Amino acid sequence: RGDPRLKGISEAIRVVPNFPKPGIMFQDITALVSNHKVFKDTVDLFVDRYRDMGISVVAGVEARGFIFAPSIALGIGAKFIPLRKPGKLPGEVISEAYELEYGNDCLEMHVGAVEQGDRALVIDDLVATGGTLSAAISLLERVGAEVIECACVIGLPEVEGRRRLDGKPLYILVGPR
Ligand code: AMP
Repeated sequence: RGDPRLKGISEAIRVVPNFPKPGIMFQDITALVSNHKVFKDTVDLFVDRYRDMGISVVAGVEARGFIFAPSIALGIGAKFIPLRKPGKLPGEVISEAYELEYGNDCLEMHVGAVEQGDRALVIDDLVATGGTLSAAISLLERVGAEVIECACVIGLPEVEGRRRLDGKPLYILVGPR
């Protein structure tokens, strides 16, 4: 938390009030990734943390997890797999439904993408209630992978200080702007 790169990362997040609906303080990471230094600092912080943890698979959550997860996977020498919204993956899938603030959503994973004994890291841009990451953990554990950690760029106060999710370590770079 004392890393000087974190200040630049935090300052590059743009808050958009009432998007996509009233009451939501949307944390926009598009400015962060359009700044090469800040984007690289973000990926480097994750790569440095996970390089020697024996991670074999980095699972990215659609859609904004896809912005960070592949670079991290390449940086640590792991495979990347997408966890997608329903109906997007062409092969055989397993699905996990989860609850949102308003309504339900679902994540899907290709059968065979992850093997028993794989050591997984789950990546998303932001964790709020943790519902999305919990669904991701379930998908990976259902096929016999071990979830080593979940990591996000931003953690909202709901999870700040919790540092764990379904018993799994949760790693967050910065709080909301
Ligand atoms: P949750 O499942 O409640 O932890 O919500 C996390 C998911 O919703 C992530 O995929 C985020 O991209 C998205 N999300 C939730 N709240 C926000 C927010 N305030 N700003 C940007 N994305 C959000």
